[in-house]
Amino acid sequence: MLRMGLRALFAESFHRFLSTQTGGKLQDKVALITGAASGIGKATATKFINNGAKVIIADIDQELGQETAKELGPNATFIACDVTQESDISNAVDLAVSKHKQLDIMYNNAGIACRSPLSIVDLDLELFDKVMDINVRGVVAGIKHAARVMIPRGSGSILCTASVTGVIGGVSQHTYSISKFAVVGIVKSLASELCRHGIRVNCISPFAIPTPLVMGEMSQIYPHVDAQRHEDIVHNAGVLKGANCEPNDIANAALFLVSDDAKYVSGHNLVVDGGFTSFKNLDL
Ligand code: NAD
Repeated sequence: MLRMGLRALFAESFHRFLSTQTGGKLQDKVALITGAASGIGKATATKFINNGAKVIIADIDQELGQETAKELGPNATFIACDVTQESDISNAVDLAVSKHKQLDIMYNNAGIACRSPLSIVDLDLELFDKVMDINVRGVVAGIKHAARVMIPRGSGSILCTASVTGVIGGVSQHTYSISKFAVVGIVKSLASELCRHGIRVNCISPFAIPTPLVMGEMSQIYPHVDAQRHEDIVHNAGVLKGANCEPNDIANAALFLVSDDAKYVSGHNLVVDGGFTSFKNLDL
């Protein structure tokens, strides 16, 4: 695990050096990432910056967000943003434009898991509304405000974080799963409108990437499984042996989807799950 971490760190540093020499895949691009203080968002912000982008780190967690921006250096700017507040999203988009003159990439990544009852009969509808507010409405608002500044320029790339729980049922509890099925639907629906303006809209569906969010989720869905087994699961013991999944795997997929390498890809849900949705074989 430590060896993998060091290897990833070395690869990132080497890539950062290369990008300063040759220009990265996102040279001079401006990206806004919600939920970028932690986990997948932070790994992606790091990757984008190492590829030449300037990144707005938008997160509800001010302390962690500021810490992350400081760690990522001068090409990262933090703005406090609660994605349930449309004005916060609007302000974050406007910051990108006022500070860097443009917004090329909008990554609607912020999301929460929840500890809701496993049966529909016991579903907590107040909790349901709260999760939808962040995971669904927050994504729609992010796309709305990104489109506001991207449409006049006739270009842009919008990305969202969905989940394998939005690809097949029964992986998670209903509330979270429904919210992620919605994200996939939002992407398909809005890609069809925005393609006329040269704007691509895609999403990524991760599975079991070790972040604070997923470790909490695992312990609810599989309460009979101990902490060590959770570690094994998220490191793909039951999925793709030796893959050692990490937030950087999602950052790699994100870099592909927002860069010109994917210039003909839109309305797509890129599943990054070690094969989980193709051959579910977790031994639980
Ligand atoms: P994480 O908890 O490490 O990061 C989530 C970030 O979102 C945090 O920094 C948090 O402060 C922020 N956030 C939460 N509510 C917010 C709000 N209202 N406004 C703005 N920011 C808010 O978790 P992560 O695993 O990196 O999650 C990122 C995304 O990936 C989420 O949408 C999650 O549903 C999705 N996802 C993760 C996995 C996984 O295996 N980790 C799998 C599928 C989907």
